[in-house]
Amino acid sequence: METMRALIKGKPGTGLELASLPVPDIGPMDVLIRISRTAICGTDLHIWKWDPWAQKTIPIPMTVGHEYCGYVEKTGSGVTDLNPGDYVSGEGHLVCGRCRNCLAGRRHLCPNTVGVGVNRPGAFADFLVLPYRNVYKLDPAIPENLAATFDPLGNAIHTALSWDLVAEDVLITGAGPIGCMAASVCRFAGARHVVITDPNPFRLDLAKRLGATRTVDINKECLGTVKDELGMKEGFDIALEMSGHPLGLSDILEHTAHGARVSLLGIFPDKLEIDFEKVIFKGLILKGIYGREMFETWYKMSSMVRAGLDPSAVITHEFDALDFEKAFETMLSGKSGKVILNWS
Ligand SMILES: [Zn+2]
Ligand SMILES: [Zn+2]
Repeated sequence: METMRALIKGKPGTGLELASLPVPDIGPMDVLIRISRTAICGTDLHIWKWDPWAQKTIPIPMTVGHEYCGYVEKTGSGVTDLNPGDYVSGEGHLVCGRCRNCLAGRRHLCPNTVGVGVNRPGAFADFLVLPYRNVYKLDPAIPENLAATFDPLGNAIHTALSWDLVAEDVLITGAGPIGCMAASVCRFAGARHVVITDPNPFRLDLAKRLGATRTVDINKECLGTVKDELGMKEGFDIALEMSGHPLGLSDILEHTAHGARVSLLGIFPDKLEIDFEKVIFKGLILKGIYGREMFETWYKMSSMVRAGLDPSAVITHEFDALDFEKAFETMLSGKSGKVILNWS
């Protein structure tokens, strides 16, 4: 039996282990992908730490990871439009195909979504099985490390491009990797001021390199002063909540203009108090964002990268897959952007 390396959560508790698993079989409509590069996500950190969310969500043993690129190794008998050697990534959300939203083409709104590396075996392995509908063929000109981050870059693009950004003033709360990538997307899409907040100086520096026009250390500065400094009269036109912290949302409610449009990507703690008076009297429009639009976001992402969008500065580290412990420590240190694991 042929075996492969896989990074799994094998038992409750902190950490992951490198296991040797059989190379999985594929069904007639599946594709076997040989993984080349993967990126570590916040989700993987939750699983690493085995926090309450991970405990209630992840069945063990589970191969983790959902951000990757690789090459088609083998296709099922029913797959006609993909071939061995094709350079691919894939949508990590598997949808049911039968609910109202799926049938209407709004697959990102499927209520029956199954997640790669969360509910079914993931990409931190030499091989991944994926239904062919989820496989996304990549332009060979896109570097592997950048392609491995297309899942979170897609989050950033879905969140940012939900609104018309041309000449608008944008507030991004949270300079994690997705917030930093969103800054580059907003600039590329024509925003005027792109202001990003965070308490972590390393991440604010990263955001600056990715195109944020003004970074704000929320422990040291107040957004009201920054608005005055920038000559903004009415507040931010667009806000992207990417911190998952209640203060990120309260800053948005406080500092947006009337009629502002707000995307919410960060995941908040269970019980969150929100000042609905501000939402109502300011006439704010709130939109929850989950995943990527299938596959409009992927199309936009590829086209924007080919047209010059370059968020690759978000990638700060690369490790051999065998050095996964160092890679996770780097992620946990808070002094990193995206961290790549090399499987090839
Ligand atoms: Zn992710
Ligand atoms: Zn569905």
